[in-house]
Amino acid sequence: MNAEIIAVGSEMLTHTRVDTNSLFLTEQLNDLGIEVTQKHVVGDDRERIAGLIGRAVSAVQFVIISGGLGPTEDDLTRDAVAMALGRRQLLNEPIVEAIEQRFRQMNRVMPEINKRQAMVIEGAQILANDRGTAPGQWIEEGGGVVMLLPGPPHELKSMFTKQCLPRLERIVPALAIRTLQLRISGMSESELDQAIAPIYKRYENPVTTILAHNADMQVHLRARCKTEGETMLLLAEVGGQIEAVLGERIYSRNGDPLEAVIGQKLVAARATLAVAESATGGGLADRISGVPGSSAYFLGGFVTYTKRMKVDVLGVPEEVIERFGPVSAETAEAMAHAARLRTGATWALSVTGNAGPTTDGDEAPVGMVYVGLSGPRETVSFHRQWNSDRARVRAFAGQMALDLLHRKLSGR
Ligand code: ATP
Repeated sequence: MNAEIIAVGSEMLTHTRVDTNSLFLTEQLNDLGIEVTQKHVVGDDRERIAGLIGRAVSAVQFVIISGGLGPTEDDLTRDAVAMALGRRQLLNEPIVEAIEQRFRQMNRVMPEINKRQAMVIEGAQILANDRGTAPGQWIEEGGGVVMLLPGPPHELKSMFTKQCLPRLERIVPALAIRTLQLRISGMSESELDQAIAPIYKRYENPVTTILAHNADMQVHLRARCKTEGETMLLLAEVGGQIEAVLGERIYSRNGDPLEAVIGQKLVAARATLAVAESATGGGLADRISGVPGSSAYFLGGFVTYTKRMKVDVLGVPEEVIERFGPVSAETAEAMAHAARLRTGATWALSVTGNAGPTTDGDEAPVGMVYVGLSGPRETVSFHRQWNSDRARVRAFAGQMALDLLHRKLSGR
């Protein structure tokens, strides 16, 4: 079963407003096994809104419209729905009375204009609004349903949860829906898609989504079947093939982020960690210490941005920086080694690079990053060059450092 969501309101087309209602609605619908096939944002124009509704009604079973139920001239959703469905609107006296009552409670008299909110489309069921004045409407049309919900998110959420969900649950066959969440590191989004597309493209169910954020990849497989057993079997069938292709690049199957998985491995090995950061400016320590319980293994770190700090505070030999430059394999390794010596940690990570946007003279090119890792047996370093903005280079660098440590802790 499919749905379309239409967000109405000219203000939703400005840079100051984001259509968050459709995110909430999509999640709720997906949980029922209803796919959202299209979302629209449309300004306050009756013909345009009616045109969208007309097309949506003939394409999907459920059309959900948010906003435009207020009392003013630009609140056109009711008129547009009446126009699209070819139905009349009737003044509903109990709604007029309820709105008047609401105004009386606030010691005010209902303006005449608010009567517009009591206009109900012929054949509609009224959806009570316990957070505002605009009632919603539930209209059954040609085997499907059109829902009119208010724009303010707290009103919409309350109305959808209390009024629409129970009605939908009676219509939509119960499905067991489960999601398998794989997290992957050390691959680009296109590499990942190239590797797994031949598998997931053969299946409409589960629905596969790839989410990429700062070089951290997630693959979500959402399966829906009649029983939990069938759902789990389907996830195992498709997930198993994907896991076989990605192998050890999968670091988590339960949603845990890379820094949390590293923490679990450090605890299991009774090992500790320290960091020495230049380009990431503390971002790496922030991620590591963001994990609850990280004090069990994270000893601390050094943010040494200048050469002087690298030498005086961290203990990097000055001649290493002089000879090879601050952004170099030798300096990255010396930073990691020094952090390990200074703290007594089992492992130490370092990051040095040029996040940009400019480079002066003999500095490393913009986007060049070296990551160092010092451990009980050796000190190593890797470098990458990204063509990206400062924030992303810094985020990529942190991810690269954690990925390096994770590989080592996994025996790779
Ligand atoms: P009201 O009676 O408050 O006018 P309404 O149903 O007419 O209710 P709108 O006037 O369209 O709703 O929207 C009221 C406010 O609700 C908007 O200014 C905006 O802040 C918020 N809003 C509307 N639509 C959305 C949306 N799709 N996502 C998030 N917020 C929204």
